[in-house]
Amino acid sequence: MSRPAAKGWCPGAYRPMMSGDGLVVRIRPVFGRMTRDQVIGLCDLSKRFGSGVIDLTSRANMQIRGVSERDHETLLEALNELDLLPDDPDLEARRNILLPFDWRAGDASHVIAQNLMARLHDLPNLPAKFGMAIDAGPAPILTKASADIRVEAAETGLILRADGATTGRPVTVDTAVDAIIDLAKWFAGHATGELRRMKSLLAIQELAPDWQQIAPRAPHIKATPGPHALGQILGAPFGQIDAKALLNLIETSGATALRTTPWRLFLLEDAVPCETSDFITSADDPRLTVDACPGAPMCQSASVETRDLAASLAGMTNKRIHISGCSKGCARARPSDLTLVGRDGMFDLVKDGHAWDAPILTGLSPDDLKTRIGEF
Ligand code: SF4
Repeated sequence: MSRPAAKGWCPGAYRPMMSGDGLVVRIRPVFGRMTRDQVIGLCDLSKRFGSGVIDLTSRANMQIRGVSERDHETLLEALNELDLLPDDPDLEARRNILLPFDWRAGDASHVIAQNLMARLHDLPNLPAKFGMAIDAGPAPILTKASADIRVEAAETGLILRADGATTGRPVTVDTAVDAIIDLAKWFAGHATGELRRMKSLLAIQELAPDWQQIAPRAPHIKATPGPHALGQILGAPFGQIDAKALLNLIETSGATALRTTPWRLFLLEDAVPCETSDFITSADDPRLTVDACPGAPMCQSASVETRDLAASLAGMTNKRIHISGCSKGCARARPSDLTLVGRDGMFDLVKDGHAWDAPILTGLSPDDLKTRIGEF
């Protein structure tokens, strides 16, 4: 089966998506980093104008959920005051830039991202989901994260690689942004109709050989919860953060800033280790083996609750589980050992596949799953 069609736009702060629990207002922190005061402000706004639930997305963004249409404008002003939202909606829509969470001030990723931010107006009109990964650390760590143009380390120097190509073109810190703009223009000049991603375009349109010269270095192992040179890495179970719990964590850990990742993990700069059950603090926490989308009642497409079930099933099997409120599979685009897909209030079971693949069993209740998950 093929994946159900995605919406052609990404919800942003200025164009929020209406969901089952109200508007979803997405914030793209600059370079994936928020100061302590910004995090505290974001949590306060989530409690004041939303449901108190914040999503940490697979593009390393934060989403305030449950906002009413009446409060949207006031929330935008408050986010702007926190310096979390530029005045210009066009600029905001173009800020789809991922950095490795462990970038340091003045390193290649940071400098290139700063240069790109200053030239966002030079990019052509691009589809809303089109994004860049400025992944210029010692080895790529964002290879599996969503991006269409990637800056990565090669054995010697940096390359710019179109997503979907195995090799890229040599660039330097100084030339990378010109090359990003050139490649984005090439995409905009060739992508027609429903083609919204670089990989889809490369499947039907050949890229000139000089853009495909050098392979990136082998990807680096990604982050895991626990101590890090910059502070502490923690996990948001199933990508969901309780604003009150995060406020408490910021207070008790002494964190000076928060950095987001695309893996439902975040880093608290200068934080001390904390005892908490609201967040994942160790790499062997079974909740890390389960992906779950918001489900009902948060998403209008879902007929089943997903995250309480995910918490119940975590640790009951050593298989990777994906719980999806419907066949769209928002929480995981890659196959999973077991995928439980909501349909008409019950679950279908897909083995070794995606949420949109054919199930081997149908009509399973949450209680069936809690007693039988070890059999599958
Ligand atoms: S997969 Fe989940 S979040 Fe995505 S549309 Fe379906 S129910 Fe909603």
